[in-house]
Amino acid sequence: MTVLRAGAATDTGLVRANNQDQLLLADSLYAVADGMGGHAAGEVASDTAVKALEAAWSAGAAHDPGALAAAAKEANRKVWQTAQSDPELRGMGTTLVAVALTGSGDNQELAVVNVGDSRVYLLRDGELEQLTVDHSLVAELVAEGQLRAEEAEFHPQRHVLTRALGVDSDVPVDLLTVAPFKGDRLLLCSDGLIREVKDNQVASVLRRLSDPTEAAKELVAEAKLRGGSDNITVVVVDVLDDGDRAAQASAALTPERDATATLLPASEVGKEDVRDPTTAVPVVPPVAAPAPAVSRRQRRRAERAAAPARPRARLVTVRVVLFFLLLLAVLGAAAGALAWYGRGSYYVGLSGQQITIYKGRPGGVLWIKPTVAQRTAVTTAQVESRHIPDLQSGVTESSMSAAQAYVANLTREFQQAQAQG
Ligand code: MN
Repeated sequence: MTVLRAGAATDTGLVRANNQDQLLLADSLYAVADGMGGHAAGEVASDTAVKALEAAWSAGAAHDPGALAAAAKEANRKVWQTAQSDPELRGMGTTLVAVALTGSGDNQELAVVNVGDSRVYLLRDGELEQLTVDHSLVAELVAEGQLRAEEAEFHPQRHVLTRALGVDSDVPVDLLTVAPFKGDRLLLCSDGLIREVKDNQVASVLRRLSDPTEAAKELVAEAKLRGGSDNITVVVVDVLDDGDRAAQASAALTPERDATATLLPASEVGKEDVRDPTTAVPVVPPVAAPAPAVSRRQRRRAERAAAPARPRARLVTVRVVLFFLLLLAVLGAAAGALAWYGRGSYYVGLSGQQITIYKGRPGGVLWIKPTVAQRTAVTTAQVESRHIPDLQSGVTESSMSAAQAYVANLTREFQQAQAQG
């Protein structure tokens, strides 16, 4: 049995006149909506969305992930209908992120839906990971590689959303699921938080304050401290108990624990008939199913979000240092082997007309040049002329004594030839 505990905080910020954000803390259903539109329209949009989401969720018979996506679609329809019915409200819209506990018994999981640029993060084992993908122009440009993440922060069109509730009668909804583990902490927030507080600072607050309400309040306070240019809304959801899932997972060491989230294509979610959730085909595989098909885009974002987390950074530094130490050791060994090869033998060659024994290899090996080991008293005039080309290129011997024996042989051979001649 999964047990959750949640806390929240919201604030108008220091610049805006009113708070158009809305949040929901219901029984196992949590949401943040960031409304937009002239006058009070933004507030109406986010309020309508959150209320419609809760109504659709409680009315539905099946509390599975598909039902949460259906409830988000129902919220979209309500906001759209409201906007159509009142000229004052025309053009209003809202973002929506929601988290719900779905399933029962061993098959419980957290479903996450997203439309717009509010976000859901997961803090697990001290590391913060962004679960949702922003539906904004800059996020799409970054994902396509046309814009760097640092540039996106100051892009003039950073407020432009590519998806929002209330703009059309239907909207694609991102749906993903998370297997809840004891100690997991989910963060739902509007862009007013992210705009002011960096991910690593968010992570540090979430690690420091164990009470979800205190953590939410602290995050809002940090955002105001750093400018508070927008409405700020934060919901923190803690997994207090997971019905022994964590113990089972670490005992079995299944890859499931690493598989944070499964992102389903919006097109699949869109195929559902929201008015009859009982006949809706479940679009999410049960928990036991393998295949954590996290999209590349999702994975990249998740990696980027997790990158500033301190433990991983330290791990990387240690790895880099170890790598360079290993590289140095390998290079040192190679140099040693080369020196041994270059210096470890002798050869008989010529120094002018004088037959000379060298330590090293004829011509040298890279920077290791041969050195003179012994200048013999023998000259080219005292050896058979057929040996001269060999001596010019150098005759390699394994040791000093072998080289000396070779020279002695040359002399003996010459003397015998002289005696016979
Ligand atoms: Mn906002």
